[in-house]
Amino acid sequence: MEVDTVLVKVASRCNINCSYCYVYNMGDDGWKDMPALMSQETIEALSSALKTLCSDQSTPFATVLHGGEPLMMGARRLAYLLSKLRGVLPLTHPLCIQTNGTLITDEILDTCAAHHVAISISIDGPKPVNDKFRIGHKGESTFEKLVAGIDRLRNHPKATQLYSGLLAVIDPLSDPAEVYWFLKKLGAPSVDFLHRDGNHSNLPFGKESFESVEYGTWLSELFDTYLSDTSPIKIRFLDDLMKISMGGRGVKEGIGQKSYGILIVETDGALTKNDTLKSSFDGADKFETHWNVRNDQLSKIVKTEEFSKYHRLQVPSAIQCKTCPQLASCGGGMPLHRWHDKNGYDNPSVYCNDQKYLIQKINTRLKEEGVIS
Ligand code: SF4
Repeated sequence: MEVDTVLVKVASRCNINCSYCYVYNMGDDGWKDMPALMSQETIEALSSALKTLCSDQSTPFATVLHGGEPLMMGARRLAYLLSKLRGVLPLTHPLCIQTNGTLITDEILDTCAAHHVAISISIDGPKPVNDKFRIGHKGESTFEKLVAGIDRLRNHPKATQLYSGLLAVIDPLSDPAEVYWFLKKLGAPSVDFLHRDGNHSNLPFGKESFESVEYGTWLSELFDTYLSDTSPIKIRFLDDLMKISMGGRGVKEGIGQKSYGILIVETDGALTKNDTLKSSFDGADKFETHWNVRNDQLSKIVKTEEFSKYHRLQVPSAIQCKTCPQLASCGGGMPLHRWHDKNGYDNPSVYCNDQKYLIQKINTRLKEEGVIS
């Protein structure tokens, strides 16, 4: 077992308040007890832990700064953090920031460029789509500030190195072609699309039932638009599904059967599970053992039985998945989407029928194109 990604919560607060956010709007108030920003002592402990991990494992891992909103650190504290991290992480180890884009300044971009940091920005689509859920604390629009941040990034002299892509949460009620062409106009090299959080006891937004296929239909229409574009932006979700259908492997969590070693570091240095699990039940993202980067070696944590148990959660246990002809492509979906209050994670994904619909669509198209038989 090796670590693929260390996701670091450098800020536990956010300057905006997306209504679908699993951190702040799904009933878990744990963030209130956390330091608002990662302290200098914790940053030092983190960089020391990452340095040791670099020497303990041969495979490079990515470090992703997350939040809350990571740019709430401000330019000076961020510069200190990045210099510490890049000081121990060779360039073979990607260092990335996932941000809502509204606090981007030239000073922050210069610092990121100096430390070879890639920036991904969250935006869901054109203004009416984005501002439906990605809103400020008073319900105000975030769109103009967000697009201004993207423009600043695109106009930076090191934009090619800095701009890694966009992250969009799917609104199944939006027009996928309109969303695609809008995001393409923002000049992103790639776009990751995320399904909404939700499970069998709390259906995702826009999904009428387990049997319904709103997300499968939306993604199939996106797929048609994607293939109609002669110079498309990368969409890893669709690329992975096509690659797997053609006998290759995916690279994205939640697609295919590859499992990923992901560790989350909270602002106080505590190690937790993938925090999207918070949407299943209160405390679902906590390990029983209270590990912390100040005291514990990351490569030892991932070798414990407790971490293995968490890691095995990525392998679907439901009989429907084990016998499913689409298992190689679908992988059973993300654990948070399998949750049911009655029987835990022992279910197919709540997006099961959407996945079947989309995979069928992709396979049919690849056959028509003569790519697969
Ligand atoms: S979630 Fe559904 S489509 Fe995916 S592997 Fe399980 S049964 Fe198959």
